[in-house]
Amino acid sequence: MSVPVTFLKGVKAARAAQLGNLGVHTLEDLISLYPIKYENRGNVCKISELEHDKNTTVCVVIQKSEFKKISRTVSITNLQVYDETGYMQISIFSGKYGTHKFEIGDAYAFYGRVTRDQYGLHMTNPVYTRYTDKWDEKFFQIQPIYPLSQGLTQNIMRKIMAEALLVEPIAYETLPNDILEKYSLINRVDAINNIHFPANVEMAAKSRKRLKFEELFTVSLMLYLIKDQNYKSLSGISFKGDLIEKNIEEFKKALPFKLTEEQENVWQEISMDMDSRKAMNRLVMGDVGSGKTVLAVMALLKAVMAGWQAVYMAPTEILAEQHYENICKLLENTSIKPALLTGSLSAKEKKDVLEKIETGEAKCIIGTHALIQPTVKYRNLGLAITDEQHRFGVRQRAVLSEKETRPDVLVMTATPIPRTLALILYGDMDISTIKTTLPGRKEIKTYAFDYSKYDSICQRIKEVCNEGKQVYMVYPLIDTNENMNLKSVVDSYEMMSKSVFSDISCGLLHGKMTPSQKDNIMREFKAGKIQILFSTTVVEVGVDVPNAVLMVIENAERFGLAQLHQLRGRVGRNDVQSYCILISEKITERMRIMEEASDGFLLSEKDLEIRGPGDFFGVEQHGLPRLKIADVYADAKILKYSSDAAKNVIENREKYASFISYICKKYPDRIQL
Ligand code: ADP
Ligand code: MG
Repeated sequence: MSVPVTFLKGVKAARAAQLGNLGVHTLEDLISLYPIKYENRGNVCKISELEHDKNTTVCVVIQKSEFKKISRTVSITNLQVYDETGYMQISIFSGKYGTHKFEIGDAYAFYGRVTRDQYGLHMTNPVYTRYTDKWDEKFFQIQPIYPLSQGLTQNIMRKIMAEALLVEPIAYETLPNDILEKYSLINRVDAINNIHFPANVEMAAKSRKRLKFEELFTVSLMLYLIKDQNYKSLSGISFKGDLIEKNIEEFKKALPFKLTEEQENVWQEISMDMDSRKAMNRLVMGDVGSGKTVLAVMALLKAVMAGWQAVYMAPTEILAEQHYENICKLLENTSIKPALLTGSLSAKEKKDVLEKIETGEAKCIIGTHALIQPTVKYRNLGLAITDEQHRFGVRQRAVLSEKETRPDVLVMTATPIPRTLALILYGDMDISTIKTTLPGRKEIKTYAFDYSKYDSICQRIKEVCNEGKQVYMVYPLIDTNENMNLKSVVDSYEMMSKSVFSDISCGLLHGKMTPSQKDNIMREFKAGKIQILFSTTVVEVGVDVPNAVLMVIENAERFGLAQLHQLRGRVGRNDVQSYCILISEKITERMRIMEEASDGFLLSEKDLEIRGPGDFFGVEQHGLPRLKIADVYADAKILKYSSDAAKNVIENREKYASFISYICKKYPDRIQL
């Protein structure tokens, strides 16, 4: 059912276009354009109770009214008003003809922001209503505040919304009754009506809860359905074979180290997925340096030994090359010769690789997104491994498998994600985690300082450079004009490379540079030509510069725990003791936690607990429907039980058959049952 907004009497073409700019085209869109906040005009105070900077309603009598022209087009009405507890001033700006005429002795209710200064209490441009034998009850109701586009006002939006809500069937129930009951949720009609025009504060809260639940529940269910469908379908490949097992065992024996128990366990999970005819869709999570690559290589080996092609896709050229080198080394004693495919190959090299891929001569291919361009024709792709790509998009998957069979997909990530979040971000995947660090790895020693120690930190940086080692300096901003109170990477680079560090080679790296500029700088840093790299958070996860042993993070208070942890993982890439220094005006709780904790999972859980706005890093909701009201971080609790509810629905499919088919119709491009 999709009724265009022009169905409403108050909405003609021009208005519809304005709504369109907000992404609203149908009535359904309209009623799910939720208010960003409310005006609580029911909060009526006496003048003596008014507080500075609070939005409040006062019911008062006009004592003085003065109209003044300020310029040709602007005038102001100054009112003095009172109630039995005191006086206050009200100013209303208007066009040249002034505003409505206020008569001395009339009673009004004004709603607006109160300010208090040396002249007393004040309200500027409040909304108001006049008392006429009785108060207009509507004025005192909680009023929604909507996102607006050019040409719309709050009053217009409220009118349109009120009209839309009168259209009978749009707010039909979408959740099964027993779920409403079990989780004490109000029904959808009440929720929709009250999210827009709440009867009271409590109903506003209940409506939000209900709609957030619905949103998270629906997405969770969709992900579970996709996962379920993967389990049921036998369209995948089985890479099973005794000879293959033998090859893997030999490979393991030839390694210069023994796999840890956790690595063994994760390998068993991967291996079982690969043995089965189900298409694998597995995420392997583990800190940088936890030993994921060797597992990926074993999977590549297994696929290739079974006669299939396998690819390993990295997010950038440098990482692709780095993986290529590592994987070549690990596969040295096998018959497999990996190929590299990136955007920067010469035309001839590229043609050569593409040919080998098409004929099947290239069996193990490592590269960037170049691997999933339509020009690449695989002969028989059986396994796709991606690095930090989190969610392998539906489209990407389609490019990889035009054939009947679906390749197995394995995703490696160094971004630890709290369990509650993983439920929704990766609800359609199986998840393996490596929690412990490898034997013999040194923890990165972390210290928090305030700026009073800045000079000695600079001295320390110089010493490190004099020893021939390298340093990362990390900043939250690119330019200072983004925020005057924070240091920017451009300014700091300009200043410090010419002063304290004038005799050290410095480099600059940030997100406004082109990919090839960034690539060049990273290469120079890797090659040791740059000793101090001034950077924003763009320094890639997983780039290996073993000679970089110190990371200094300025304005460290601006970063979340998970983000600080990921940043710090860029040093400590070999056996040398590495350090991370966090600097801030004032040492924060987070910085103290960073000094103590080195476990990425624990830090990401903590991050979720104490998260400030926009802190959580590295997790993008790729491929998920955009959430309109819920926030997977702030609403982690609702997420938890909506996800439990979704699981329960999956486990009792018959009972919820009609509901499930409703969800499937809602996401037809994702779930084919
Ligand atoms: P990740 O891919 O998780 O960042 P790597 O696979 O690159 O980590 O592992 C980091 C280093 O540890 C590599 O040099 C790798 O050869 C080595 N390594 C992997 N597994 C073990 C192990 N079980 N024991 C000792 N060293 C290991
Ligand atoms: Mg399989």
